[in-house]
Amino acid sequence: MSLPPGGRIGILGGGQLGRMLALAAAPLGYRVHVFCDEADCPAAQVSDRLTFASFDDLAALERFARTVDVVTYEFENVPVAAVHAIAPIVPVHPGARALEVAQDRAAEKRFVESLGGRPAPWRPVDSAADLEAAVAALGLPAILKTRRMGYDGKGQRRIDHAREAEAARHALGGRGLILEAFVPFTSEFSILVARGADGAHACYPPVENIHEGGILRRSVAPAPGLDPGHVAAARALVDRLVDVLGYVGVIACEFFATPAGALFNEMAPRVHNSGHWTIEGAGCSQFAQHVRAIAGLALGDTGLRGQGFEMVNLLGSEAGAAHALLAAEPRAWLHLYGKAEAAAGRKMGHVTRELG
Ligand code: AMP
Repeated sequence: MSLPPGGRIGILGGGQLGRMLALAAAPLGYRVHVFCDEADCPAAQVSDRLTFASFDDLAALERFARTVDVVTYEFENVPVAAVHAIAPIVPVHPGARALEVAQDRAAEKRFVESLGGRPAPWRPVDSAADLEAAVAALGLPAILKTRRMGYDGKGQRRIDHAREAEAARHALGGRGLILEAFVPFTSEFSILVARGADGAHACYPPVENIHEGGILRRSVAPAPGLDPGHVAAARALVDRLVDVLGYVGVIACEFFATPAGALFNEMAPRVHNSGHWTIEGAGCSQFAQHVRAIAGLALGDTGLRGQGFEMVNLLGSEAGAAHALLAAEPRAWLHLYGKAEAAAGRKMGHVTRELG
């Protein structure tokens, strides 16, 4: 059963991903109710309704759930308890299992390994002895990461010399960590797949991602220079992953390209920054696709609408001068997220350009 026009979609989280989901839900005839712990959030500015409450407020979550027909989320650190509070009232897509896996780097890697995928060599670290053994097993350089709550390069430290290891461990809280071998990748790419309520799959062309200081700066689609065999293997892994999870919606999986094959880095059980180019560059944007999937509609066309596209994030103060782009580059597409505070490194908007 699909959600008819006039249906109401609830979104947990009010950032730019929620904003672009709300903007994509409107032409399909849907209303959006945002649940967010920030009053003037980017998504609420373009939505029908806002519940301003904490994600730990189960009563507020239940009230919110009763006003909508289906719930999704736009960030993966939504407490799993919030999804458990809502799920008996209305469907939540993607489900709690996808969140649980994505919230814990160790659980995520074990899950991917169980499906035959290959992450970078890694070890769990909960003590000084664990870290010493992990450094001995994996070698240096390596990256120490918190299992939970890491994003945009936060919650990680690169270790180049054994003498730095203990300071890095203490800086990250001492336990609940993983050590990952440093991967000398040739490039990073992501695979975005949508899985519909009927189990259908739709995959976008692979996207190359260029990070600066752990933050995505630029994405290029289709990703140039990848080994087609490695891309096919990465796609097959994502296809298995969404089927095993019974996933409904768009997922993004990030990979390191190496001469020996693609290594799985991490998954985001949601629409993703590396898919923003699809708004103008694909037949159906990742946002419209996600809404279609969770509403039980047919999936849209993931093909390119041109030769290729690049998306560049506008970080911090860069967004202040963004309107000048409209005159300088009439063919560029500008998206601003309506954030008041332009903190350094904060994602304030993005620009998409057709290449070629
Ligand atoms: P993550 O939050 O784990 O995706 O890390 C953010 C970025 O740090 C990645 O996109 C990479 O550019 C870099 N990075 C993370 N882990 C590794 C690794 N094991 N080897 C090399 N670079 C890494």
